[in-house]
Amino acid sequence: MAFQKKTIRDVDVHGKRVLVRCDFNVPLENGVITDDRRIRESLPTIRELLNRGAAVILMSHLGRPEGRDERYSLKPVAVRLGELLGREVRFAPDCVGEEVKAMASALKPGEAMLLENVRFHEEETKNDPEFAQQLASLADLFVNDAFGSAHRAHASTEGVAHYLPAVAGFLMEKEIQYLGRALADPSRPFVAVLGGAKVSDKIQVVENLLPKVDALLIGGGMAFTFLRAKGLTTGRSLLDAESLDFVNSVLVESPDKILLPTDVVVADSVDSETGTEVRVEEIPEDKMGLDIGTATAATFAARIEGASTVIWNGPMGVFEKEPFSKGTKAIAEAMARCQGVTIVGGGDTAAAVEKFGLADKMTHVSTGGGASLEFLEGKALPGVVALQDA
Ligand code: ADP
Ligand code: MG
Repeated sequence: MAFQKKTIRDVDVHGKRVLVRCDFNVPLENGVITDDRRIRESLPTIRELLNRGAAVILMSHLGRPEGRDERYSLKPVAVRLGELLGREVRFAPDCVGEEVKAMASALKPGEAMLLENVRFHEEETKNDPEFAQQLASLADLFVNDAFGSAHRAHASTEGVAHYLPAVAGFLMEKEIQYLGRALADPSRPFVAVLGGAKVSDKIQVVENLLPKVDALLIGGGMAFTFLRAKGLTTGRSLLDAESLDFVNSVLVESPDKILLPTDVVVADSVDSETGTEVRVEEIPEDKMGLDIGTATAATFAARIEGASTVIWNGPMGVFEKEPFSKGTKAIAEAMARCQGVTIVGGGDTAAAVEKFGLADKMTHVSTGGGASLEFLEGKALPGVVALQDA
């Protein structure tokens, strides 16, 4: 599947002022960036534009501030980005206004500046047209490289594209190509692995993926609602009662495609120091299931290793706690061994793969949590729709 939108390859940027929406929504602890992956992932686009003689004006949101709040300042990102680029990144005190406009006008080809957090203005999330126009007035061209924000129709992701020629950056292109190709034209066998806490979060993902995949492996908290639908007792495990009807219907429709755990790790609570492995038919009434068991992990791993395309969203257990992390780790290791295309989507799943040091072993780990989920649901992303067609 070819990417349907224009990219920075298709436009002349020399001597132009280019406004680039990045996803610099990085985790901060006391003003220190604890994971700079999103900044590093944006470097190819920024470097390309600078090398081709553009003056680059970068913008992003960070966190969910209500109005101006220095704890959510993008200043640390400007510093880190400058280190990674090996050149100065000027930092603007705001994203709109006269002073910012003057800074943007003074920017020369090959120079970069970063605007302050766009969410310091409530007009951003309201997709206010006047605010979008003010952002657009800073530049000659808009580049959207913020895949992680593409599912939101905000002023800096969608609105601004109505006032400037708008094209995709390399990260946006890469994300859509990997996820899009896997969904539209997967090399088979095509296996999807789903986990996480709630079925209700993933209903649309299941609906969209089930007709496309050869097998759907279900673990994590959501597996217990499936087991319950099959008539098993699941003790104090997560149960998404509202989703039982939906689960029943997919089990009836596709009984052969769906693989459920045959054994699980149970404990008194997520804070327990150890768990016990039991068969799913024997989950004690007073315990909760917090991970898939060894036999299930082996069965799932074999399916994954035999696949040509694997998409994984949702941890297999409460991986944040060591006693319940083994199932998720086993799946990550199987993905790493798989010779086919392996794609990881979802914020917590990506964090798990990073934690196990296996991110580099995947074909693609999406930078977009919510955006990758909406893509897997089959939804159009407003930030992509707004770009010029190729
Ligand atoms: P993603 O962000 O990758 O889409 P989710 O947000 O859907 O993933 O799910 C991640 C969460 O699911 C994790 O915080 C994990 O602890 C939780 N989880 C996984 N398995 C279980 C379980 N058996 N019981 C309770 N919570 C679980
Ligand atoms: Mg999550």
